[in-house]
Amino acid sequence: MTRLKNKVAIITGGSGGIGKVTARRFLEEGASVVLVDLKQADLDTAAEELKDLGDVLTVAADVSQEADVASYVSKAMERFGRIDVFFNNAGIEGKVAPITDQKIEDFDQVLAVNVRGLFLGLQQVLKVMQQQGSGSVINMSSVAGLMGSPGVSPYVASKHAVVGVTKSAALEMGPFGVRVNSVHPSPINTRMMRSLEEGFQPGHGEEAKAALEKDIPLGHYGESIDVANLVLFLASDESTFISGAQYRVDGGMGAH
Ligand code: NAD
Repeated sequence: MTRLKNKVAIITGGSGGIGKVTARRFLEEGASVVLVDLKQADLDTAAEELKDLGDVLTVAADVSQEADVASYVSKAMERFGRIDVFFNNAGIEGKVAPITDQKIEDFDQVLAVNVRGLFLGLQQVLKVMQQQGSGSVINMSSVAGLMGSPGVSPYVASKHAVVGVTKSAALEMGPFGVRVNSVHPSPINTRMMRSLEEGFQPGHGEEAKAALEKDIPLGHYGESIDVANLVLFLASDESTFISGAQYRVDGGMGAH
């Protein structure tokens, strides 16, 4: 298992559903991993679960705060001296409501984490990768970054923004040997979907789930491992000619 041998990977949202499973896959393939998330207690739990697989550094940070981003980048550099892979994954779902009922403070919060946080991470990590002359960035978008989704317009706006930033970053970074791609999952079985199901149909999450699954040709949600395996491919040297691309992992949902 050596697809990421000797590589150093930062994963934001690293104690969440998709982040932690991806960390496990990266470690299994030989990477050292830096997990970034809001709460040290959650990071400690994740690190304890993963510790037998390899080298794990945890940094508590809010990705929307520039000083926190500087802190996770500098701690990664102090410990490992390089950053080969950046899985820019932290995100929040926001509130479920039609546009006319969305609170602008909630809109701002979703954009602050999903766009500003992702952008701040890019600003600081790309400087390191540019100097190294190598690196692979995987930005977390969503099928909601490629199509509309009623009720979650701030989230949709934020995930569409990720596509534009990814393309621009890929164009700027190509000459330095740095690749930047985005991934676009459909509903995946994590805490985030439980929260959204409750938002769509309060008290009837199972029914909301069944309705969402009708839009997925394969008939069911994905699992975090489905996303992790795609991210692993984009992180590894198996994808060295791929940049500026949008990859769906969505059971066919985006084919509508
Ligand atoms: P999750 O809630 O389990 O994980 C998200 C993680 O991000 C959490 O651990 C959370 O603490 C962290 N986070 C939130 N705000 C942060 C901040 N300001 N600073 C640092 N960390 C922060 O959900 P998940 O499903 O694992 O989501 C991971 C990513 O995948 C998100 O960007 C999400 O939008 C995206 N995504 C999820 C789905 C899905 O259906 N679950 C589908 C498409 C895209």
